[in-house]
Amino acid sequence: MRYVFGPVPSRRLGYSLGVDIIPPKYCTYDCIYCQIGKTTDKDIRRKSFYDPGLVADEVAGTVASTRVDVITFSGSGEPTLNSDLGTMIRKVKEKVDTPVAVITNGSLLHEKDVRADLAEADVVLPSLDAVTEEVFRKVNRPQSFLDIGKIIEGLKEFRAGYAKPIWLEIMLIKNINDDPDELRRMVEIVSSLGVDRIQLNTVTRPPSEETAGRIEKDELKQICELFGPRCEVICSFEKTGEIPAQADWTEIILETLKRHPLTLADVVRTTSLSRFQARTRLKAMEKKGLVKSYVLGDDLFYVVA
Ligand code: SF4
Repeated sequence: MRYVFGPVPSRRLGYSLGVDIIPPKYCTYDCIYCQIGKTTDKDIRRKSFYDPGLVADEVAGTVASTRVDVITFSGSGEPTLNSDLGTMIRKVKEKVDTPVAVITNGSLLHEKDVRADLAEADVVLPSLDAVTEEVFRKVNRPQSFLDIGKIIEGLKEFRAGYAKPIWLEIMLIKNINDDPDELRRMVEIVSSLGVDRIQLNTVTRPPSEETAGRIEKDELKQICELFGPRCEVICSFEKTGEIPAQADWTEIILETLKRHPLTLADVVRTTSLSRFQARTRLKAMEKKGLVKSYVLGDDLFYVVA
């Protein structure tokens, strides 16, 4: 499989088939918490990367052979940098009925063609981690032409023209964007955006920079109350995976690890392997030098070696 990965248990969407339409690592940001690693190509120019028909064929083939709750365009960078995003979603929808989501950092929503492409999706999940320029630069390290005013305006314009659900993710990082003043301003601005859900997250996977520390769950819950009833904390997986018995586990686990570090529990949920089987397989892959593990907080994570 070249473009799809998973299905993986998504914290927000359930059992999600990822569609990676951006090569590593094209992004408009270089977030300190990024799980993929440092941005090598920081850009705001949209490009055509892959053949939309081939992407749609691969998605449809996978949906036909396994259970998928949602098809999620995301990937090894910012998906709206792919100028074929709208065409790809349309082609996928011609072939399957599964809902389509797009996870975006929201940085290009001020562009009309980006808003038009995203309008094809059934749900859009943008992020907003700061509302002041200083914090924006600290957390997201954006491409130099971007500023936080443009990002917030883009979110407002998108909301005005998109009637389907928008779920806004806010990644909170210890001592970086959890200052009471920043949070107070964020609550004000986010309340004015009219999004359907506000989803708080923190660093629970190995980040790009060690300075990106997690906020404890109790504190996150208190912050959540500031945002009101549409807000929730999203920090755990609940669904169990289901992949055909003949699947090549090593390949599937490796493809997923290329995009997300996983714990043993994540691998169990992503696959239909038992905990023992998953551990044995990961150990064998580690022994072969395919993956490596390390500890973050209370968890042991696996990444591609
Ligand atoms: S977290 Fe998302 S937006 Fe931030 S650098 Fe990584 S891919 Fe880009």
